[in-house]
Amino acid sequence: MDCRQERSSSQSRDRVEVTVPAAALVVRHARCPNGCLLMASEVTIGGHPSIHVRARQGGCDGDVFLDPAYGSYNHRSAMEIAEGSVVTIACPHCGVTLEEAGRFCSSCSAPLFAMQLPRGGRVEGCTRKGCFSHRLEVIDLGAQLLRLYDAGQMDAHL
Ligand SMILES: [Zn+2]
Ligand SMILES: [Zn+2]
Repeated sequence: MDCRQERSSSQSRDRVEVTVPAAALVVRHARCPNGCLLMASEVTIGGHPSIHVRARQGGCDGDVFLDPAYGSYNHRSAMEIAEGSVVTIACPHCGVTLEEAGRFCSSCSAPLFAMQLPRGGRVEGCTRKGCFSHRLEVIDLGAQLLRLYDAGQMDAHL
């Protein structure tokens, strides 16, 4: 398995960034910052419940269903979003923004949005359509870091 991991300490928590083969990990429990579950079991992508967010652009907004397989990009959108344009991303349930103040894509410098995972992990994505910058950060893995390559161990964090 071609995996790479970097870790650095910040305060008392361990932060681990994971680079994994496309579609090897599937996000199952993404939430907004207010705790709404974003998983849409009625819209599956690749056989898995998708991640439902609300995108807004130029006064229009629409539902977007993100591919839950990390590194896979078969997203579905109910609205027309031009390739290369930037949208704002919010929770479809409570309306809170998923964008993170002061965080920008390292590839294209558009704002990043993030979804919260169980046990303190996060998935970040770029708000620019067609930019495939994507990052998974798992916090507080502790001793389980050693078993990172075992997908069974990762599942609890996704
Ligand atoms: Zn919410
Ligand atoms: Zn980007």
